[in-house]
Amino acid sequence: MSNHKHLFAFVLFAGGCAGDATPETTGSASGLSTAFDAFRDNVVTYKDGDEVVIETTGLPDHTSVYWSPSHELHIDESDVDIAPGYIDDFNGSYTLRVPFAPEKASSTTSTGLGPIGIAVSGAVIYNDEEGPNVPIDNAIGSLDYTGAHTGPQSYHYHLEPVAWTEDDDALIGIIGDGFLLFGRKCASTGDHPSDLDASGGHTSTTQYDSVETYHYHVPNEVYLGQYYILFSGDYQGTPSQVQ
Ligand SMILES: [Zn+2]
Ligand SMILES: [Zn+2]
Repeated sequence: MSNHKHLFAFVLFAGGCAGDATPETTGSASGLSTAFDAFRDNVVTYKDGDEVVIETTGLPDHTSVYWSPSHELHIDESDVDIAPGYIDDFNGSYTLRVPFAPEKASSTTSTGLGPIGIAVSGAVIYNDEEGPNVPIDNAIGSLDYTGAHTGPQSYHYHLEPVAWTEDDDALIGIIGDGFLLFGRKCASTGDHPSDLDASGGHTSTTQYDSVETYHYHVPNEVYLGQYYILFSGDYQGTPSQVQ
């Protein structure tokens, strides 16, 4: 199935942008928000009917102590209490299908363990738990400089991923209910939003959308003196599973 989807995405690209040397499945021609241009080359995004499909290898595009020592993106971080498993041990993929125009649900849904979203880097987003009723502070020492680890699942973020966003309005990724997740600041004001709900969400314009839309932010609430939790609330929309 996975190969079929990749092929489908490629055909869409080849048909729409023949002659372009850079594979690109987003942009105005695709009908997708330009926000999807922020996803790196290792993430494929395309519109399929009234859904958006996000496919990734699960591997991030940035450095980490969790790449195997011979990998070009491996860096040393002596203060990280290394969890088992290298990033490049993971040999799989993730797919998320969400509504093209997600809406808030009449009731919220709690997130579970495992992937709850896909980051623009290609790796997946987790909530604030490391296991069943185990808060992430029990494993904080194993997180690398960008708030992520393996151990032993594929590489995933629990905290503000400073590899590409630190107290700014950068796009971080997409959550399983189809809403986008941004950094601590909102492009609508250039500052930290003061109207966030319990999931870090609010409705405003963004750098990608002049129409007000619902989206999430990393709450500007310091955790354990120096960190920012990525996503700790409920889904405000209807979640799809990252598979
Ligand atoms: Zn974890
Ligand atoms: Zn905002």
